[in-house]
Formats: sequence, C-alpha cells, structure tokens
Amino acid sequence: MKEPLFLDSVLQKKIWGGQKLHMVFDYDLPAEKVGEYWAISAHPHGVSTVKNGKYQGQKLDELWKHHRELFGNTPGEVFPLLIKILDAEDYLSVQVHPDDTYALKHEGELGKSECWYIIDAEFNAEIIYGHRAKTREELAEMIHDGHWDDLLTHVPVKKGEFYYVPSGTIHSIGKGVLILETQQSSDTTYRVYDFDRQDDNGNLRELHIKQSIDVINIPGITPKLEVTEEKIGLSTITTFVKTPFFNVYKWQVRGELALRKGAPYTLASAIEGEGQLLVDGKTYDLKKGDHFILPADVEAWEFKGELDLIASEPGAKNS
Ligand code: ZN
Repeated sequence: MKEPLFLDSVLQKKIWGGQKLHMVFDYDLPAEKVGEYWAISAHPHGVSTVKNGKYQGQKLDELWKHHRELFGNTPGEVFPLLIKILDAEDYLSVQVHPDDTYALKHEGELGKSECWYIIDAEFNAEIIYGHRAKTREELAEMIHDGHWDDLLTHVPVKKGEFYYVPSGTIHSIGKGVLILETQQSSDTTYRVYDFDRQDDNGNLRELHIKQSIDVINIPGITPKLEVTEEKIGLSTITTFVKTPFFNVYKWQVRGELALRKGAPYTLASAIEGEGQLLVDGKTYDLKKGDHFILPADVEAWEFKGELDLIASEPGAKNS
C-alpha cells in the first residue's frame, strides 16, 4: 500500500528554549523551556514513531533497519537526515559542528551540516554566522581572549529567509527566532562560548574549545546560495540548496500542487496553513506542525489548500 508515514516525535528541553512550540504548533510541552522538536528523527537521542497506516507504532530507526525498501534501498548505517523545529527564546551557545571525517574519528557518528528556514523572527532578531579571524592562530587567540565582538559576524534575520550552515561554520541562533532545521543526523555540538549562562543547578554547560579550534573553517566566510523559484499555477516551488547531504525546498501550495518524486524518498513539514495531502487515491488532512515521509513507492502526490511546507531529500552522498 502506498502511503505517507506521519510521525510523532520527541521534544527536547533546553536552557535557551521557550513556549512557542506550543503557541505556534500546539505541541504538548513537557517543561517551561522547550527548545527543540525533533520532527523527523531516527537519531538515538530522540526517535520518531509512525502514527498511521501499516507501520503505525513503529520507530523510524527500526524501519530504516528492517524496511530499507521504504527508502529506495539507499545505503548507510543510519537514517541520514534529522528535521527539527527550534524555538530560541534566548541565544543558543556559539557553536560549531565537525564534518563526517572528524566526527566519525572522534565521536563515532556523522558530522553535521545544517540549514535553517526562518519560520518567524522578532523585530531586530539576528543570528551569528561566520567569523573574521584570518588564520587559525588568530582564531585561537580571539577565542582564548574572549574577543567575541571582533570575532563573530552578526546577521539580522527575517521570516522566510534561508541559511546554509556547512560543518565548520561557527554559528548561533539569536533570541526570538523560530526555525525549521534540516540537518545530518548527528548530535555532536562543540560549544565555543555560552554567554557564561548557568543551568537550573547553577552549572555552566561544558565548552569544547580545542575541538572547536580544530574544526572551524578558515577563512570563516559563509556560502552564497543560488535560490530558484518555479511557479506552477498559483503555487510556488523554491529550491534553496542542493548539497551532498540534502536538498531543501519550500512548497507554497495555493489551491493545488501536484508533485512527482525526485529522490528515493522525501521528507516534508507543514509550517503554515492547512489543507490536504492526496496519495494513491487517499486524502490526509494536513495542518502546520505535521511532519511526514513520502516513501520510495510513492511516485506522485498532490496537495490542496493553503499550505507552506519545507521539504527535503537525501543528497547525492546519501542516495
Ligand atoms: Zn548548530
């Protein structure tokens, strides 16, 4: 039977989190400060469960292991992608993620390239994205001396923007930003600076200065993207990025939009509006906050309604 896999997923408490995941997406929050919803995940720190159809109740990591046909029999020990929604009520730590080579050697998991779609941003909100050090020595010196204002590049952000954050990019998400993140399935973060914040027990979070200096890209410039838009009737398909790890799109459905698969499988998240998804003659109601996978046997599908979705596919390295 050809059907989408709708998912129930795991929320994560964070010292920088807030209540927006409930206010905007109606998720039931387990705590006051919730930072992340791991919307599509097979990572051991928070695995999604299928909530409909033939595979109802099954975990995504188990499906990857035992039903690889759903993913077009693509290779790989772990499901390669992780989709999150993040509510930054306060700044995340200034951080960097290693690439696959460094992460496999030192952490035993994938590295992490990630990208962000800005779902919403408060007035004057910003991200930290890249740095100004010219050499690794200068970088190390500025980090050790805490010269953050000279070192870090601040970028103002608005709703609807998209940022690609390859491994090795120093970054932070600023206060008042709500994002959908598409990333490699990894939970390795090297914290460079945490604003000297204490957790509930008065402890500082661990920093990883040596690893950070090892993996931060020099020079610290950030990628320029060639975003393209295709109009289909009143609807729009935006292609944000194609990388070895993932391709990321926005589907703006205005009335209807019919699509065919362009990869072994497709991940999608409704972030705005409501409507329906039609697959193999069956209709599924969709609203913002719903996340699903279109497995390999779903060759074509259709949307109706007024809906914005962020979609992704495994990139060339993962398919
Ligand atoms: Zn990050």
